[in-house]
Amino acid sequence: MKLIDCHTHLHDFEETEISEIIHRAKLANVAAIITAGTTIESSANAINLSKSYDHVFPGVGIHPNELNESFSEKTTTQILELASNDEVIMISEIGLEFRENSPDRAVQYKAFRRQIGIARELSLPIVFHCRGAYEDTIRVLKEERAFEVGGAMHYFQADQIIANQLIDLGFYVSLGRPLSRIDELQEVTLNIPINRILIETDSFPQPFKKYRENWTEPRHTLDVANEISCIKNIDIEEVASITSHNTLQMLKNPIKLKHHFDSVFHYSGT
Ligand SMILES: [Zn+2]
Repeated sequence: MKLIDCHTHLHDFEETEISEIIHRAKLANVAAIITAGTTIESSANAINLSKSYDHVFPGVGIHPNELNESFSEKTTTQILELASNDEVIMISEIGLEFRENSPDRAVQYKAFRRQIGIARELSLPIVFHCRGAYEDTIRVLKEERAFEVGGAMHYFQADQIIANQLIDLGFYVSLGRPLSRIDELQEVTLNIPINRILIETDSFPQPFKKYRENWTEPRHTLDVANEISCIKNIDIEEVASITSHNTLQMLKNPIKLKHHFDSVFHYSGT
């Protein structure tokens, strides 16, 4: 069984911890980890980390909560340069977050649109964040023709209508640990075809948790897979195989990932 954690911030953990985190992930059948940048600096760190570990792959992008006054031409160029590195397999983490203290919406729209433009220019998929802005996100995905490169809404917690709209546009739905505690999300998951589901942990350092062992790590990808297995009554091996295959499809099967996932790559199920 080989799982892919399709969205983490692994490079944000203490350097001294990272090899142990990867080891624990491997013991839990997680054979590839995608680590997403959230700023210019963090995107560069994600790329650097991927150079040290065979099974770590970077995404680059600026998270909506990390935007300041403007999204300048200089920033666009920097993201484009970072994303042009051979190692980079996706534009992530980008998106929209419309909450009270979120950055200016006009800046968020501009950053989201520009970064979709970069993804299209480089033919990379997008894995995007969305909070309180579901309709707006779908509209931007359509207007910017993001479906031409495809991707996934990460840490999905929306309703069936949004799930259907994403699937109709050709996007995947990426599920994380909230699946174990949100009844409505379990209901929606029941109705999402398994061939549109990806798995992630969105793991990052969580010092606000009392015990270190309670921090979410890529190893918890297995827990999410188990949850999906129970909800949909599909064997865990099949959940792993199909969701890993889905990730590869989204990534257009980059050679590096294919090398690690030959058996998954050749999976011919639905
Ligand atoms: Zn994230």
